[in-house]
Amino acid sequence: MVCGMGRSPVVSLVESQSEGWAVWRVRMLGDFVNGFAFRDANGAVTLLDVGLPWSTRRVLAALAAIDSGPSDVARIMVTHAHSDHVGAAASLAARTGRAVDVHEADAAYVAAGESPPMSGLGGLVSRVVPGFAAAPVGVRLVDGQLLGVAGGLRVLHTPGHSPGHVSFLHEPSRLLITGDAIFNIRGPRWPVKAFCTDFQLNRQTARLLGDLDYTMAAFTHGPELRDSPREAIRDFLRREASGAVGGGT
Ligand SMILES: [Zn+2]
Repeated sequence: MVCGMGRSPVVSLVESQSEGWAVWRVRMLGDFVNGFAFRDANGAVTLLDVGLPWSTRRVLAALAAIDSGPSDVARIMVTHAHSDHVGAAASLAARTGRAVDVHEADAAYVAAGESPPMSGLGGLVSRVVPGFAAAPVGVRLVDGQLLGVAGGLRVLHTPGHSPGHVSFLHEPSRLLITGDAIFNIRGPRWPVKAFCTDFQLNRQTARLLGDLDYTMAAFTHGPELRDSPREAIRDFLRREASGAVGGGT
């Protein structure tokens, strides 16, 4: 049984007793599809990626598990405009009154309820991938922006998987959130090429994630790496740069 229903909807990642913030992974579908929740000292919750079109109940369960509710949600953000990340955004926007913050290059897709172009089968893939409900767009994120979320959350534009794909670095805890730039399914690996707008660009921009300084790496697909995450990601990128096999299927 891999879907993990019945297991806790959240996994604690990092917290600061003194500063009052905490960060959880929200398990949308076992460890295979994740979002994240940040809570500030004042109780304000930021949701980052909200799962599949049917994940609303899962997100509400996650909020309950951290002793919060829809009225505590101050911000909804997504790493990119794919239906396994923005799927429940319209429903959660309606329940919380919050628009969806997304990188400026993916904003129009969120607003239209459409995925960005995908390279697979000459673009045919994007026409067969399930869509998602159009959601109101809030802040258009830009590269390098530091968001006032849980003591400081840095936006890192890592395009390729989609034009406006972003990763994040939670600076106070040195927690990296790769988004779909790198998966961790039985080790670091590339996202599925057919679902990428520009797979080669994804490979290039993901190199940034080897250069940053972090002590935990969390993924939108796969469990977090708590033990030498930087080494694991750097090893992966080095292997891939040298043309060895693995990933990109
Ligand atoms: Zn994804």
